[in-house]
Amino acid sequence: MHKDGHTGAALLLTAPLSYWLITYAGLPWGALLLVVASGVASLPDIDQKTPFLDHRGFTHTIWFCLAVSIIAGAGAYLVFLQGATLGSSLGIDSVRATSQAVPVSLVVFAGALLSLLSHLLADAITVGNGKMAVRPFWPMNYKKLRFGLVKSDSSLNAVLIAAGGLAQVGMFVAAVSP
Ligand SMILES: [Zn+2]
Repeated sequence: MHKDGHTGAALLLTAPLSYWLITYAGLPWGALLLVVASGVASLPDIDQKTPFLDHRGFTHTIWFCLAVSIIAGAGAYLVFLQGATLGSSLGIDSVRATSQAVPVSLVVFAGALLSLLSHLLADAITVGNGKMAVRPFWPMNYKKLRFGLVKSDSSLNAVLIAAGGLAQVGMFVAAVSP
């Protein structure tokens, strides 16, 4: 799957959570989810630019998805607390900001995890087999996650980005409608 397809898959998979966040927490939380999900959607393909990594190897496992999501969530928590401390040193009330650090880190964690899992699913749709098959639990289990339906450069990329965009817009409209 190409970059567009992965971004579309991430938007599609996070659309229900977007709706829930916008409805119960507000627009900025939905926007945060959107930025994180689209930001990491193609991260597993960093293995194509890294000499010592096999394509669709470690970066296409559940362990990589979990590790990146935990690091992103923890990083967001620390950056947010740092911002609140800086705010209080400048005389800005940081009590409210501090209390938002945990929810911010949870949204970043959930957005990253859903997006990265959508990457594995989208790659599993492609015909890639053998070394190109996605093995989510490697090296503990060599079982393939493979549906083998389309080539990675198929028009499904365009369909996914369109469907993901529409799903997000739909959820936004539904969430803000009276
Ligand atoms: Zn990939």
